[in-house]
Amino acid sequence: MTDISSQSCIFCKIARGELPATVVHDEADLLAFSDLSPQAPQHTLLIPRRHIASLDDLDEDDWELMGRLIIVARDLARRQGLAKAGYRLVANVGADGGQSVDHLHLHLLGGRPLSWPPG
Ligand code: 5GP
Ligand code: ZN
Repeated sequence: MTDISSQSCIFCKIARGELPATVVHDEADLLAFSDLSPQAPQHTLLIPRRHIASLDDLDEDDWELMGRLIIVARDLARRQGLAKAGYRLVANVGADGGQSVDHLHLHLLGGRPLSWPPG
């Protein structure tokens, strides 16, 4: 069943192929594509195809999906040549976390030194 949020959600639209994106990895339950406004030379977003608003909305039995998302991020980082120098994998959650799209996503950022702590 498609709920209201997934009908209007831009990442659901990308997952359904209704909005264009530069897809770098595609499989049954998840998708990875380039960020429209990259914050580093390599900036990829990884999403579950199913609409989950944020990490805070995960169910207990989503552990396999999230594990897979992280393994795919690791593989993409290797493929993009980031593994040796390093990279960052982040999820922004809610207003204070800086989340602007309410569909769970991981940012894979690399290709330059990234400062810490974040602003
Ligand atoms: P957040 O701020 O929610 O953690 O990250 C949302 C990310 O989605 C931002 O980095 C933003 O640039 C990216 N973004 C927003 N709209 C689109 C879009 O339509 N296509 C793509 N590829 N990225 C988007
Ligand atoms: Zn969605």
